[in-house]
Amino acid sequence: MAQDTLHYTNGGLDRAALLRKDPAWIAARLVDPSSRFLPVWRNRNLVVDEEPPRPVALHGPAATMALELAEEVIFLGLQSGPEGQGSGKPGRAIFALDISALSEEDIPAVTGGTGRFAELRDVGPRMDQGDGQLLAYARGIVYWHGRHRFCGRCGGPAESADGGHVRRCASSACGGVDFPRTDPAVIMLVHDGGERCLLGRNPRFPPGMHSTLAGFVEPGESLEEAVAREVAEEVGLGVVLPSVRYYASQPWPFPASLMLGFHARAEPGTLKIEEQELESARWFHRRELADSPEDDRFRLPRGDSIARRLIQAWLKDRS
Ligand SMILES: [Zn+2]
Repeated sequence: MAQDTLHYTNGGLDRAALLRKDPAWIAARLVDPSSRFLPVWRNRNLVVDEEPPRPVALHGPAATMALELAEEVIFLGLQSGPEGQGSGKPGRAIFALDISALSEEDIPAVTGGTGRFAELRDVGPRMDQGDGQLLAYARGIVYWHGRHRFCGRCGGPAESADGGHVRRCASSACGGVDFPRTDPAVIMLVHDGGERCLLGRNPRFPPGMHSTLAGFVEPGESLEEAVAREVAEEVGLGVVLPSVRYYASQPWPFPASLMLGFHARAEPGTLKIEEQELESARWFHRRELADSPEDDRFRLPRGDSIARRLIQAWLKDRS
């Protein structure tokens, strides 16, 4: 299955969605010595910079101090540890803590100097898949809390509930409720039905990088329609709708996307590049991609992205 190979998927965490609605159970896990706490500081995750980089999970006195300082505490799920596996015991509870209010100088007091707060975009590609998913989950849900402090209906303060998986308006007269948001985005490798596929370059990409087209799904739109609309908008080509084939999905918490990957065949036509979004786009023969120099002249998308997997899958199909 394509998803087996995708970063930020298949971490094996039991999200225990029913248990998180029980405040007494959550309170007991917060003081359970087996529980572990993943701090997030200003969208950065705490990691030990080894190869591969590993998450640092706080416990004991460090966790107690971090809990006291945290603005948000979110139950992520249950993880089977060495003591849990095969013992019949439930896994240990894993929490995310938002400690963004701490100044940089105060961080060592909480972490004991272990690890550093790193941008997951930088360390994620080198991490084990399961570790990467756990940190992506922690980063994504902490980010959501930070941007939903107030009720979208009445503008009053909103409070975290259900282990951090809901925010409720503090005003009982309003009763507004928000759930963690995920933005669906389609990402598609467009090909000509033969030996060529279409890649584009966004001006924000690293030097030489070319990638698949992508865009957000709009309200009232099917995924297939979003694929066709984005291709038409970005490069002026039609898409053969029956050729649109789903590949796999990937959470992409930078900051809150779910990437839905497709292959699609373009109708014949002339490229018309939307210059607001793309610096360039053109057809590439599969030999050019298979022989990619991976340097500033030409490189494929980053190794942890579904874009790269879409390209690799297309190359494999025709090898
Ligand atoms: Zn409200």
